Amino acid sequence: MTVPLHIIEVAIPLYLDKTFHYRVPERLLKEALTGRRALVPFGNRRLTGYILGDAAGSEISNLKEIIEVLDSEPLWTSLELEFFRWIASYYQHPLGEVVRTALPAGINIQTRKGTSGEQGDLTGGKKARREKFYCPGPVLEPSRQPSPKALEIVAVIRDAGDISAGELRKRFGACTPQLKRLIELGLSTAEEREVYRDPFKNSTVKRDEPRCLHSHQKEALDAISDSLDQQQFTPFLLYGVTGSGKTEVYLQAIAHALERGQNALVLVPEIALTPQLTGRFQARFGGGIAILHSGLSDGERYDEWRRIRRGLARIVIGARSAIFAPLDKIGIIIVDEEHEASFKQSDGLRYNARDLALVRGRMARAAVVLGSATPSVTTIHAAQQGRLTLLELPERVEGRPMPRVELVAMKGSKETLSAALSVCLAETYEQGRQAIVFLNRRGFATFLVCADCGKPLTCPNCSVTLTYHRQRGQSLCHYCDYAVPAPGTCPSCNGTTLSELGAGTEKLEHDLKELLPSARVLRMDSDTTSGKGSHERLLSRMNDGSADILVGTQMIAKGHDFPEVTLVGVVNAEASLGMPDFRAAERTFQLLSQVIGRAGRGETPGRVVVQALDTDHYAIKSAAEHDAAGFYREELEFRREAGYPPFAFLAAFAISGMSEQAVSEHADTTSRLLARLKAELKVRVEVLGPAPSPIYRLRNRFRRQILLKGANRSDLHRLITSWLQQASVMSTVRISVDIDPVDMM
Ligand code: ADP
Ligand code: ZN
Repeated sequence: MTVPLHIIEVAIPLYLDKTFHYRVPERLLKEALTGRRALVPFGNRRLTGYILGDAAGSEISNLKEIIEVLDSEPLWTSLELEFFRWIASYYQHPLGEVVRTALPAGINIQTRKGTSGEQGDLTGGKKARREKFYCPGPVLEPSRQPSPKALEIVAVIRDAGDISAGELRKRFGACTPQLKRLIELGLSTAEEREVYRDPFKNSTVKRDEPRCLHSHQKEALDAISDSLDQQQFTPFLLYGVTGSGKTEVYLQAIAHALERGQNALVLVPEIALTPQLTGRFQARFGGGIAILHSGLSDGERYDEWRRIRRGLARIVIGARSAIFAPLDKIGIIIVDEEHEASFKQSDGLRYNARDLALVRGRMARAAVVLGSATPSVTTIHAAQQGRLTLLELPERVEGRPMPRVELVAMKGSKETLSAALSVCLAETYEQGRQAIVFLNRRGFATFLVCADCGKPLTCPNCSVTLTYHRQRGQSLCHYCDYAVPAPGTCPSCNGTTLSELGAGTEKLEHDLKELLPSARVLRMDSDTTSGKGSHERLLSRMNDGSADILVGTQMIAKGHDFPEVTLVGVVNAEASLGMPDFRAAERTFQLLSQVIGRAGRGETPGRVVVQALDTDHYAIKSAAEHDAAGFYREELEFRREAGYPPFAFLAAFAISGMSEQAVSEHADTTSRLLARLKAELKVRVEVLGPAPSPIYRLRNRFRRQILLKGANRSDLHRLITSWLQQASVMSTVRISVDIDPVDMM
C-alpha cells in the first residue's frame, strides 16, 4: 500500500533554482504519487511538474492545488531521482530541467492555458502505437466454408501463430471483410496489442559465439567479473589499441552480468552507433537490446524508453543521452571511446555522459568500464593515481604489427601531396590494394582571398572565413550555413581575382584524380554523407572493393574497419593544433593515432605517410612513433605547469547577445561580481577574462567568455552557487555556465 501524499514537492522544468509545494485535492489522493507528472497551476499558466515526494512539513499557507495527475505509473525510481539530484547540484542546473532532459521527449504533453492534461502511462497512453493481431481461433472445421481468399488467410494465421493486421494487408491487400468472416466463424480471434517500433525489424543476424580470449583479454575479463560478483562499484580503464579485442571483452563482461541477473548500459559516440557495432551485440545476445540513437523519432525513442522501463530490454546501447535510460539493476556500464568530446552535451544541461557513467555506476554499485585506444589525458592521470583500475590490451589480436609510419616535412611546399605520399599511392594502386587519405577540412579551399584588396571572404553573420566548395559553386559558412555563389567577386572592392588558400577534402580528391586518373576515388565528409544511407553506401563501396582510394575528414578515422587498406596518408597533420584550446595537442594526438590505426588491419602489414609542417611537434611525433606513454608524459607536464585539467577544475561563463555593447558591459559586470564574491568567500579560484570568444561572432551574436579555474571543485562550486544567487541578467543578453567545459571556441 502506498501512503497518500497530501502536500507534495514538485519540480518544474523552468530555469528556477528551487522546487515548489502543492496541495493534493481529495479526488487525486490515490494518484498523486512520487515519480509521476502532475499538471500544476503556476502563475497564470498550467505546467507539467514532477512529483518528487512528500512535503508534509510545508510551512507555506495558501498552497495551490494540483489540477491533474498525468501518469498511472512512476516514471523514475528513487535511485534515479538520487542521480537527477546529483546532476542538478553538480551542474548547478534546476532539478526540473534535469528531469525533463532525462525523460524522453515523446512523453511530454503540450500544456496550454485552460486545457487539462492527457493521461499518459507506461502501458501506452495515447502516444503508443497499438495494432490488431490475429491468432488461430477455437474452431477447426467451420459449419460453413469461407471464401478461398479467407481460407488462404487462415492458413497463414495458423502458420504464424499470431500475425498483425498490417502484415496480413501486406500479403493479401485489403482483407477486412474476410477477417471479419473468419472471426464470426471462430476460425480466428483478434486482439489489440501495443507494438514497439523495432529498430531491428529488417535485419537478419547470424548468431555468433564468444571467442576464446587471449591472455590479456582474459585478465581484463576476470577483473571485471570479480567486481561484478562482489557487486561493488569499481571503475576500470580498458586501454587497448584499435583491434586489440576490447569489444570482445565488453561482450563477455556483459554476458557475465546478465547471467547474474544484472543489466548492462553501453555508451558509444553517436558516430560509432553503426549497424556494424549493434549487429555484433545482436549476434551475441539475440533480442532484449534497446538502441538509442539520434535517428529515432520522438515516438520511437519513447517506445524504446518504455521497453527498457518495463524490463523488456536488458542491454541498452546508445549515445550520450542513454546515460538516462530507465534501466534497473545495472551491473555494468561501458563507455567506449571514452575520450570522445561528443559525450559532452553542448547546450541546456551541459552534462558529460562519460563522467556521469561513473556517478551512476557508483550509485548502482556497478562495474564501470571506460574503454579507449587513446584515453583522455585526464583518464590516464586518474589511472596513474589508482582512481581507475588499469586493464591493458597492448597488442592487436593475432599479433598483427602496428603500421610503419613515415613523417614528411612540408615546410616550403605548396603541394597537397608530397612526392613520398604520391609514390606510395601509386604503388598501392598498382598492387590493387586500397588506400585512405585523411584531411580534417572539408570543401575545396578553406578560404578565398581577393588579389586586389587582400581581404579574405568572411561570413556576414559569424567571425569566420567562408569555405569555398567548388562542386556546389558556393562559398559556405560552416557555422551558420550562409552561402554565396563562388568564386564570385570580392564584397569589399568588387575585385574578380580570388585566390584559393588552404586545401580541403574536395581539393584533395581533385588532386588524387589528377595523380591517378584511372583510380576510383571516393570522398567521405559531411558534404557527401548528408543523404540517408549515403554513409553506408560509401562504406560498402570500400568494403566490396569497388573503390581504390577513400578521401575524408575525421569521419573516416573513427570506428570503421577497412581490412584491405594497406596505406594511410595524412595531409596537414597539424590542422587541429592551431585551435585556441588547451586540448589541441591531445585531440591531434588522438586523431592521428586513430587514423594511423586504420592501416594494416587485415593480413598485409600497413604503412602510413604523415605530412606535417612541424614534424617535431610532440603530438605528431609521438603518434607517428606509437609512443603514447611519451605523449601522455609530456602533455601532463604541460597541463601541470599551465594549471589545466586534470590539475585544475574549470567552469566557463559564456555571455552572448545581438548588441556588442550590452554583451561587453554584461561580461564586465559578471566578472566584477565574480571577483567580489571570490574575495568574500575566500575561495581559491582564478577568474580569467572576460575575453572575446575565439569565434567572436556567431549567427549574429557577439560572444565573450570568462573562465574560472579552481584548485578544487568545492571552491569552484561555492563561487558559482553564490553567483547564481546574486546575478541579475539583462533580458537582451544570454549567459550560460558550463561546468567542465570541453568546447572552448
Ligand atoms: P577493438 O574493440 O579493441 O577494436 P575487437 O574486439 O573489435 O577490438 O577485435 C578486433 C577483431 O578481432 C574482431 O574482428 C574480433 O572479432 C576479433 N577478436 C577479438 N578477440 C579475439 C580473440 N580472442 N580471438 C580471435 N579473434 C578475436
Ligand atoms: Zn556564418
